[in-house]
Amino acid sequence: MRSKDLNPQNFTEFADEVVLKGREEEPRKEDTQKVNFYGLELDDLKDLLKKLGKESYRAQQLFKWVYQSRVTDFEEMSNISKKFRAELPDLISFELPKVVEHLVSKDGTQKFLFDVGFSKTVEAVLIPSDDRLTLCLSSEVGCNMACKFCFTGKQKLKRRLTADEIVGQFMQVHDRLKEGQRISNIVFMGMGEPLDNPEAVFKTIKVLHSTWGMNFSRRKVTVSTSGLVPQIPLITESGARLAVSLNAPNDEIRNFIMPINKKYNIKKLMDACREHTSKARDRVTFEYVLLKGVNDSIEHARQLRKIIRGVPCKLNLIPFNEHPGADFHRSDSKDVFRFQKEILNTGTHVTIRRTMGRDIFAACGQLTSHYNEHPKKQEVQTGILG
Ligand code: SAH
Ligand code: SF4
Repeated sequence: MRSKDLNPQNFTEFADEVVLKGREEEPRKEDTQKVNFYGLELDDLKDLLKKLGKESYRAQQLFKWVYQSRVTDFEEMSNISKKFRAELPDLISFELPKVVEHLVSKDGTQKFLFDVGFSKTVEAVLIPSDDRLTLCLSSEVGCNMACKFCFTGKQKLKRRLTADEIVGQFMQVHDRLKEGQRISNIVFMGMGEPLDNPEAVFKTIKVLHSTWGMNFSRRKVTVSTSGLVPQIPLITESGARLAVSLNAPNDEIRNFIMPINKKYNIKKLMDACREHTSKARDRVTFEYVLLKGVNDSIEHARQLRKIIRGVPCKLNLIPFNEHPGADFHRSDSKDVFRFQKEILNTGTHVTIRRTMGRDIFAACGQLTSHYNEHPKKQEVQTGILG
């Protein structure tokens, strides 16, 4: 290990404490009497209407207006009686997290900063590529998992987002798309650990996927986890795809850079992945951030080959993205390609993730709720890997 401060003796007590024991959340935004529509499933609204003595088919009508026609002004909902239309504004709100900043990178990546109340913000990133438009969503303000290389992980968990705030990120971006554009893929790879906030994340997936919601294919949704093993079956059940941030070829390195590994080691993680692949009949994507001098040698590639053997998978190598106070460095391009080649030799599918949005701090691991800690834009030397 070469980078500064990488001595396991210095391993922060914070990381052990929060990952192994959990941590208190900060308060949510102000409570209102109204129900936020974007946090509701069809059945939730039916129940609500039933309690108010209204017909349950009204719920279907409302969902159709909101998600299919994108109408949120009750006055425009022409098939709903005038009397009921007048009652609805006191019951339901369509409040979305406010976009307080929208940055566009030279490479077309867009970053949206959302205000989620009490001076807290989260970010979502829209990434264009030849045949895709991928939206990367955040599930938490900060993150308890304390991975050493991740800017979000340095910020500790402030609060888990609610379903309406995650659905809300999607709707805000969706509503700003140009004519003819549509989001083709959703990835839970923004701020936070999605499996640390499963209730809101899987509700969001249901709302986005259901025919009464956005009718978005589950197969186009990927949930990325640092390895909360007991919750992985929730991904299998949801029908979404699984990505695992592996990032290390053995327990020693993984314990050090990803404290969650002390709770669920690589063996337990691989068992859970195998279980998922057989039940979902899908392969898992392993993400591996290459950290110079830490996990990027030929020997590490060989060890990695061994641990993923027998798991139907694809490997995605991610060049490290720098952020304020980072203790790590990006591997040299030649080492990235050498690492890739060593794995390719076994027939495993290995891709290198092209870095997108680095000039607006929108790349993997650069997202923050401490928005003023880094400049909004930076000049970057883009090399062969982006
Ligand atoms: N908490 C989830 C999802 C969000 S992180 C998870 O860890 O999987 C999304 C991805 O960004 C993860 O694969 C993580 O390993 C990677 N990442 C974090 N910090 C990074 C950095 N500084 N450079 C490159 N990738 C990073
Ligand atoms: Fe959290 Fe994922 Fe960052 Fe780890 S890599 S600190 S789990 S957001």
